[in-house]
Amino acid sequence: MEDKMALRTVQNAIITLTDCRVSEADRLQNANSFKDTANVLRMTRAGVAWQAVGCGRGAYELALKYTMERKQFGRPIASFQLVQDLLVTMLGDLTAMQTMVYRLSELQDNGNITDEHASLAKVFCTLRMRSIVDHARELFGGNGILLEYDIARFVADAEAIYSYEGTKEINSLIVGRAITGESAFV
Ligand SMILES: Cc1cc2nc3c(=O)[nH]c(=O)nc-3n(C[C@H](O)[C@H](O)[C@H](O)COP(=O)(O)OP(=O)(O)OC[C@H]3O[C@@H](n4cnc5c(N)ncnc54)[C@H](O)[C@@H]3O)c2cc1C
Repeated sequence: MEDKMALRTVQNAIITLTDCRVSEADRLQNANSFKDTANVLRMTRAGVAWQAVGCGRGAYELALKYTMERKQFGRPIASFQLVQDLLVTMLGDLTAMQTMVYRLSELQDNGNITDEHASLAKVFCTLRMRSIVDHARELFGGNGILLEYDIARFVADAEAIYSYEGTKEINSLIVGRAITGESAFV
């Protein structure tokens, strides 16, 4: 797939299988229903929650460095109250995300992770990541739209991370079903 705005180093392709027959020896064993696919998605969703933490942390660290180097009115912009307010908001989000995925991995390690755990972490971390990269780009001012400052890459990548491995809507429905006992899937 060409002309992607995000995750440009990742190779993506559309694979179409028409009248395809696979011999038993080549068939992926133990993959018999969507339930088996869901087992994989539970693990990969947890991984994407971690990706969101990495994207958010990269954006936060880049923005923090920039605010200490960029001078306006003779001072680094990091010395202004409203700039510090944004940095602290970002750090609070990042800390909450890191704490959540750390706990998620503990559940994974001891075999107690469920679909709704992974979905909740994916929803929460990708939403907070979007907010962090938004604030980070804001702190770059006009330079934030220039590719050479690198922050745009985090903004773009955040959009892919937000949408793949189940969108916010679908992951929310998984958590919603678990907490209410009602399936709202259509
Ligand atoms: C970089 C990248 C890599 C990917 N890699 C893979 C991969 O390896 N394997 C793979 O299978 N897929 C992959 N995908 C596809 C990805 O999983 C889908 O893009 C994603 O699940 C959303 O599906 P869609 O694009 O068809 O959106 P749509 O289903 O068209 O949804 C569009 C919007 O409508 C909402 N929506 C749709 N249906 C409902 C509903 N019933 N209720 C409420 N809201 C709804 C969605 O949440 C979304 O906001 C990848 C995508 C990207 C961007």
